[in-house]
Amino acid sequence: MLGNMQSQGLLISDILEFAAQAHPDANIVSRSVEGGIHRYTYADALARSKQLANALERLGIKSGDRIATIAWNTYRHFEIYYAVSGMGAITHTINPRLFPEQLSYIIQHAEDQYLFVDLTFVPLVEKLADSLAGVKGIVVMTDEAHMPESSLENLLCYETLASNESPEYQWPCLDDNTAAALCYTSGTTGNPKGVLYSHRSTIIHAFAASQKDALDISEGSRVLPVVPMFHVCAWGVPYSAPMTGATIVFPGAGMDGASLTELIQSEQVDLLLGVPTVWLGLLNHLDEVGEKLDSVERVVIGGSAAPVSMIEAFDKKHDAMVVHAWGMTEMSPLGTVCAPGRYLRSLPDKERYALQTKQGRAVFGIQIKIVDEDNQELPHDGQAFGRLLVKGPWVVERYYLSEESALDDQGWFDTGDVATIDERGYMQIVDRKKDVIKSGGEWISSIELENVAVGYETVQEACVIAARHEKWDERPLLLVVPVSGKSLDKQDLLAHIGKYVASWWVPDDVVLVESLPHTATGKLLKKDLRETYQDYFLSSAKAM
Ligand code: ADP
Repeated sequence: MLGNMQSQGLLISDILEFAAQAHPDANIVSRSVEGGIHRYTYADALARSKQLANALERLGIKSGDRIATIAWNTYRHFEIYYAVSGMGAITHTINPRLFPEQLSYIIQHAEDQYLFVDLTFVPLVEKLADSLAGVKGIVVMTDEAHMPESSLENLLCYETLASNESPEYQWPCLDDNTAAALCYTSGTTGNPKGVLYSHRSTIIHAFAASQKDALDISEGSRVLPVVPMFHVCAWGVPYSAPMTGATIVFPGAGMDGASLTELIQSEQVDLLLGVPTVWLGLLNHLDEVGEKLDSVERVVIGGSAAPVSMIEAFDKKHDAMVVHAWGMTEMSPLGTVCAPGRYLRSLPDKERYALQTKQGRAVFGIQIKIVDEDNQELPHDGQAFGRLLVKGPWVVERYYLSEESALDDQGWFDTGDVATIDERGYMQIVDRKKDVIKSGGEWISSIELENVAVGYETVQEACVIAARHEKWDERPLLLVVPVSGKSLDKQDLLAHIGKYVASWWVPDDVVLVESLPHTATGKLLKKDLRETYQDYFLSSAKAM
């Protein structure tokens, strides 16, 4: 027997309609790309999204068409999210940090009809001109006064395109399984793969993400997503914030410590979200200028592991609680959150910091399990580690345009991560499967070693990779970027690491480097480093 309730679909357009009506006091504040702060309400954003939807219809955009963006977090990007998905088309957010070949590949693979680009990225798009044959037009996200000189054909101005249109538009009543947004993984091996979110998956994810035990976004929150809208939809904040009546503060192109500090302080932001690299820049800047953040209550850190030194610095220096979260493009992205609930808050500082280095508990809707090589489920004892598998209504089923399922025969998605789960359900990422170091048959976590290394005062950034070893098969090699202008003694650093990990985990050597390579999403790019350093111990053994 079926229930007797309304089966109205869960549609993205309804979020903005709701916010405009129910939360007239909430704002969208943006550092604009042209300079200056732009500020308006959700009702304003709704009217402009409708104008843009009318403009797109006039350009011939139909349901299911892909509209790409290469853009910072600003109000115009937000309007595109709602106009495009709301009308039944697909917002394809492109990460400008991808290699040019990858950019060309995904624009062609997605068969994007129009490309919306911020002024910053016009030169980047000019370089891709040869691969844009299928793109009908490029819309520069600015006004007529700021339109650039460009060699690109079919250049349109965002404000001119939308401003003459009516702010009246009837959103179509879509099936909520209709595709809404497309995001490609950064693809460190092989071509990037597209993950196609639906209206339904996006809305359920936004509900889950807003909860107190997740990102805790609610009416009155002032949220600054530093995580880009081109990286897994800024972790869903552009949906969660209007759904709950929070004010969003968009940083535009200003991701450096000084710009962020200025915006956080002037807008009295209480919730920050982003990857560790961004927070390193912010904390360093605050140390340099001797400033304290006075409004920030919580900092959500994900994308890479949050080191304990960062958790402690936010707590002790800025009274801000780090909320460690884990997820991936394939999961919209939220999987687990180490929320500051009653238990976590009850712990003494040191134990609390240690718990906060874990990526936390699954949010309701996501099931997690760890399995061994034979797919046998492992115990939740905080010790046993194995492949982390997930299931849930906002987890990918197949990649865009792929015929094959991305799941195993029980419907689980293999995240490619290796993790432990403890008795209380807290999950901790040990490593990416491909990055784990196998020394004499035992596993060593590169992430844990990196986290300990960055706690050493003259280490700016650390990366641990497996290098081949005659006796142990693989041994950890530590690559370190020292804090500029500071000296670093390798033996002291290794002794520091030895205080926190088993002696056989301590890396065999340290290499000082000027910088480390990163992926388009800011993670350490270990593949190239492994190739460069794989024979490090073999060749030094020969040299001895
Ligand atoms: P990419 O496109 O670079 O793969 P994703 O955001 O999809 O970007 O990357 C997901 C991966 O990032 C996860 O599978 C995991 O390895 C890593 N990751 C995400 N959050 C964390 C975290 N809090 N701690 C450690 N690793 C993380």
